[in-house]
Amino acid sequence: MNPARTRHPRTGGAPPYDGGPEGPADGWWRIPPQTGLAVELAPGDRLTLLDPCGEQVSDLYLVSADDVAEQFSSGRTTDFGNSVYVSTGSLLWSNRSTILAEVVDDTVGVHDLTLTPCSQATFDVLYPDLGGAPHPSCFANLVDALEPYGVDPDRIGVTLNVFMDVWTDDRGELHIDPPPTRPGDRFTLEARVPLVAGVTACSAEKSNNGTCTPIDLRVERAG
Ligand SMILES: [Zn+2]
Repeated sequence: MNPARTRHPRTGGAPPYDGGPEGPADGWWRIPPQTGLAVELAPGDRLTLLDPCGEQVSDLYLVSADDVAEQFSSGRTTDFGNSVYVSTGSLLWSNRSTILAEVVDDTVGVHDLTLTPCSQATFDVLYPDLGGAPHPSCFANLVDALEPYGVDPDRIGVTLNVFMDVWTDDRGELHIDPPPTRPGDRFTLEARVPLVAGVTACSAEKSNNGTCTPIDLRVERAG
């Protein structure tokens, strides 16, 4: 088990949520399994990602709306935050060392900052049983969602993999545990600058305990 979980213990039951496998609650949108979308955020707007079924990862990639060459940097975020994990109070930094957003609510506590979004190559390399067959991926879904904003696919780097439990043991070996989310668990960020957020319901079966399910999303506007 990820030792960070003992530093981010959850207490109490799952947060109440009126949605479920059959559909999102009023005021929420649904990202169907193995798809993605983009949402525009103004400063002060809050974006919440919620796992309606449990054990589902959502890849998140932030781009500055004013200049799409300025993008989320996992490197800056881990460096300035002095942690390979983010949770409530953490700042999300750009490649130009600007604060893009702040995590303002989080019922899980462990999200991955080390892995790139799953891509066709991920499935070709890590899922040899698929024999190279076309497979939906977070990378392709982010490319499609962010293309209308002029984001170059080659610039899409390491994502914030919300609800993904990645850790290393004392030999440095990587472990990916099933997402620890219960139905209703959620993660909220508040934009500090105008943003375009690319968001997915992750397509990789092995990262989602065997089954890809939806992600629900809500935007609370500041003004
Ligand atoms: Zn994925």
